[in-house]
Amino acid sequence: MLDAYHQRGVDLAVDLANTLRPVKGEDLLDSVDALRVFLEEHLPTDEAPTADDLDAVRAVRATVREALERAADEPGEVARLVNDGLRECRAVPQLRPDGDGWRLETAPERRGYAPTVAVRTLDGLAAVLVELGPDRLGVCSSPTCRATFADLSRNGSKQYCSRGCAHRASVAAYRDRRRPSS
Ligand SMILES: [Zn+2]
Repeated sequence: MLDAYHQRGVDLAVDLANTLRPVKGEDLLDSVDALRVFLEEHLPTDEAPTADDLDAVRAVRATVREALERAADEPGEVARLVNDGLRECRAVPQLRPDGDGWRLETAPERRGYAPTVAVRTLDGLAAVLVELGPDRLGVCSSPTCRATFADLSRNGSKQYCSRGCAHRASVAAYRDRRRPSS
């Protein structure tokens, strides 16, 4: 299992990637205001994001989404995306107090929202690759969804992003079986 710190990074990665909805052609991260709301939810600080932050975070999103989409088929390519992304924001290991002990975090030497988002998300995805394997990252099998997901469950058999998508797929399969073939 992943520790809570890496789990939060993975959640951030999936939520960030899913601000893009390729099937509907929607982009939920289309303004500085939308970015502010997204950051308030995930990385609360007092500093308001700028238009430059928006461009930079959207570039991080492209990397994160690509990593989630390609992980199962091309894990080597995902490792390259993670390594390049971490190098670009000059990520360095840092010890932080954690309860009674310590934990090792990855932190960016570059300042700003985008390097922070990049390090948290890529570090989270790296932890999934190392601890659980690349096939735990993927894209929803529903052709009308295509949202990304990370499967941190014990058995790791996830094919759909949500219960809703899995339910719709099983209803459709049931209808197909009942339909007369002639
Ligand atoms: Zn889905």
